[in-house]
Amino acid sequence: AEGDHLLSVEDIDAYYAQSHILRNLSMHVEEGEVCALLGRNGAGKTTTLRSIAGAHPPEVRDGVVRYKNDDITDYSTEDVSSLGISLVPEERRVFPNLSVGENLHLSDVARNWSNVVGRTVSMDHPGMSTEEVYEVFPRLEERESQKAGTLSGGEQQMLAIARALKQDTDLLMLDEPYEGLAPQIIDTVEDAIARIAETGTTILLVEQNAVAAMNIADRAYVVDQGEIVFTGTSEELRTDEETREQYLGV
Ligand code: ATP
Repeated sequence: AEGDHLLSVEDIDAYYAQSHILRNLSMHVEEGEVCALLGRNGAGKTTTLRSIAGAHPPEVRDGVVRYKNDDITDYSTEDVSSLGISLVPEERRVFPNLSVGENLHLSDVARNWSNVVGRTVSMDHPGMSTEEVYEVFPRLEERESQKAGTLSGGEQQMLAIARALKQDTDLLMLDEPYEGLAPQIIDTVEDAIARIAETGTTILLVEQNAVAAMNIADRAYVVDQGEIVFTGTSEELRTDEETREQYLGV
């Protein structure tokens, strides 16, 4: 039944002003899985994540986003994040003039402040400690006192993901974590994502790099021009040459 999914996006239509971007888009994410949303440049991947996260724009004018059966379509980004849904955007927001350690510490400050102002922090997933984050990303511990702005692209990506993990995260949404990374660094980030998945965190991975995403995803959706054109396991996508050639160019 629809109600059994951790997250379900049901027939949403999303717009930037008059531009109709997502058309009747439906997808779901099961608890504990790694789910990939793939597609070319401009296909509507980021728009889908922003629609789930309650970001404006875009505006969701039709359809429903459900999380654990609750209708969260009209929730603000703050309310969505207080449910344990974290979005790591493409731009890898870190504070460039602060050290790695200070960037991580700021997440604790933000969390404590949320408690002060009365936001609920899930006790099931209180967020990782800095020590736990360093176990996932040993590279960050080595660079604890380095300014975040001087980290490589891959290290900044790790730090952006690490900051999300310090909040209570049940569902981690990653927007193109491999973008601009050298193959070797992609492997490192990939390993880290796999390790995060092993801790029970559900992951929705948005990627243009379909080959890398299929390495760690259980299931995949392909979006094209705002519509879902493929749903299946990574294995099914791997053997579906027509879909790969037509929509992913691989
Ligand atoms: P990319 O890999 O390039 O990030 P994407 O699949 O994430 O691609 P989206 O960012 O979701 O694609 O964009 C989908 C469509 O919406 C594109 O045609 C884009 O030009 C348009 N779009 C995105 N943001 C806006 C905006 N703020 N205002 C108007 N149109 C937008």
